[in-house]
Amino acid sequence: MKIVETIAEVRAQVKQWRQEGLTVGFVPTMGYLHEGHLSLIERARRENDRVAVSIFVNPTQFGPNEDLASYPRDLEHDAALCEGVGTDLIFHPEPAEMYPEGFCSYVDMDVLTQELCGLSRPVHFRGVCTVVSKLFHIVQPDRAYFGEKDAQQLAVIKRMVQDLNMDLEVIGCPIVREEDGLAKSSRNTYLSPEERRAALVLSRSIAEGRKLAESGETDAEKLVQAMRAVIAEEPLARIDYVKVVDLLTMQQISRLDRPFLAAMAVYIGKTRLIDNFMMETGGAGTCC
Ligand code: AMP
Repeated sequence: MKIVETIAEVRAQVKQWRQEGLTVGFVPTMGYLHEGHLSLIERARRENDRVAVSIFVNPTQFGPNEDLASYPRDLEHDAALCEGVGTDLIFHPEPAEMYPEGFCSYVDMDVLTQELCGLSRPVHFRGVCTVVSKLFHIVQPDRAYFGEKDAQQLAVIKRMVQDLNMDLEVIGCPIVREEDGLAKSSRNTYLSPEERRAALVLSRSIAEGRKLAESGETDAEKLVQAMRAVIAEEPLARIDYVKVVDLLTMQQISRLDRPFLAAMAVYIGKTRLIDNFMMETGGAGTCC
């Protein structure tokens, strides 16, 4: 496994693979890797001849009062985990490599970014779309792997690839959870033991919502109310949003009559956590 810091080195490696006729799978991450990330890399490993992983805490996707400076980092540990699941190349650039002086081009998106996390994190998706499209241009993968944990990000990237005619396949992978249900996240390390226990309201609320939808509930507001009620029982939890949106457009819907995403962002103390479930076929009550 190679670890490189420059765009030129990535390009040289990928060029060599291309000359050998090999396919390339790509997993973009911000590092501090856990089993959620590894599930993406393992899938990329199965479906491609070579696997590239980027580890880059992207400054442009953090708002001014967010956790850019404190975001956890541990390249040595990440590299060992990557090697363990058969990664061929880690791209770990410095911010100045990705955003040299004078940088002023961004990829922006309407509609899909105007709901859910886009509302509470106004610059977030512009930063995500910009860095991911840069990484796609640098790595030029055949397939790129993203987690359903960040369901809106997955929808946004799929739309961007379609709208801007990028020549690759975007593949979504299921949420990996701790044994007690908490969705794995690099940000879980911020939680005190008491907050870690309180954070279970997210997955409990998701399970409640899923149960209702599977039992035939078609009213999105009822789903949201039931999910909010679970979170309201936890004094350490403060809801940013709980919403049900169309899976493709990310716009709020009132009836569960199409593929949908039920998503939430909840503060546990100062830590903002997200979770969701999606139903590709719409609710059980779908008809006609
Ligand atoms: P991050 O390092 O948080 O930017 O995440 C990098 C990629 O890993 C994104 O596509 C995430 O959606 C994915 N990911 C993070 N946590 C999980 C998880 N618990 N299960 C599945 N994928 C995840």
